[in-house]
Amino acid sequence: MIDTPACVKCRRALWVTELEAGRWACERCEAETVQHLLDLPHVFRRISQLSALMKGSSPGGIGSPNREAPAPLKIGVLNLTAKGGVVTQLQAIEDAWRQSLGWSMGPTRHHTDIAGVTSFLTSNVRWACERYDEVGDDLRKIANLHGQLAGIDTGTPPPKRFEVYCATDECPGVMRISLDTRYATCPECRTAYEGGELRRLDNQYDRSNRAAA
Ligand SMILES: [Zn+2]
Ligand SMILES: [Zn+2]
Repeated sequence: MIDTPACVKCRRALWVTELEAGRWACERCEAETVQHLLDLPHVFRRISQLSALMKGSSPGGIGSPNREAPAPLKIGVLNLTAKGGVVTQLQAIEDAWRQSLGWSMGPTRHHTDIAGVTSFLTSNVRWACERYDEVGDDLRKIANLHGQLAGIDTGTPPPKRFEVYCATDECPGVMRISLDTRYATCPECRTAYEGGELRRLDNQYDRSNRAAA
């Protein structure tokens, strides 16, 4: 849908020098991603400590008169630092990049090896921004994981996410967005939507209302 060459991450039109370099993602998005990748090991370590503390405390707190259900935020903390969490999700990006580069697969990283995976990604993010056509989704994923960890780290709950449905005829595409999402691409038909358009799409709440009516 977008014909003017634009950054696959932020959709800003690319500068002439960026176009000449054949880039998929703009230099600003590359720089932002490097910053997230450098920051991630520090935030991850703090969240892991928090997570270890939480595991150490008995659920519900024996002896506490108010047995509270575990907060969603706490479950989020445990999931992000466990197997299948941040390192696993970043390794999926590493594996895809290795494959595209024609390199052999790296070792399966332990779910605490945040330093290993972020250093691989930091070393290769320039290549990805310049030469890897699917880099947009990866940059969004990195920003999202960083945002989740940083949000817990600073005590800000992650933005609530909900589903919206692609407006293309017959397209079954579903996108998960939050009120902060500025851009999303339909996973099925690759139509790109911007913030205002996204908010006008049918969302999961419309559908459940309709089903109830
Ligand atoms: Zn960009
Ligand atoms: Zn679609």
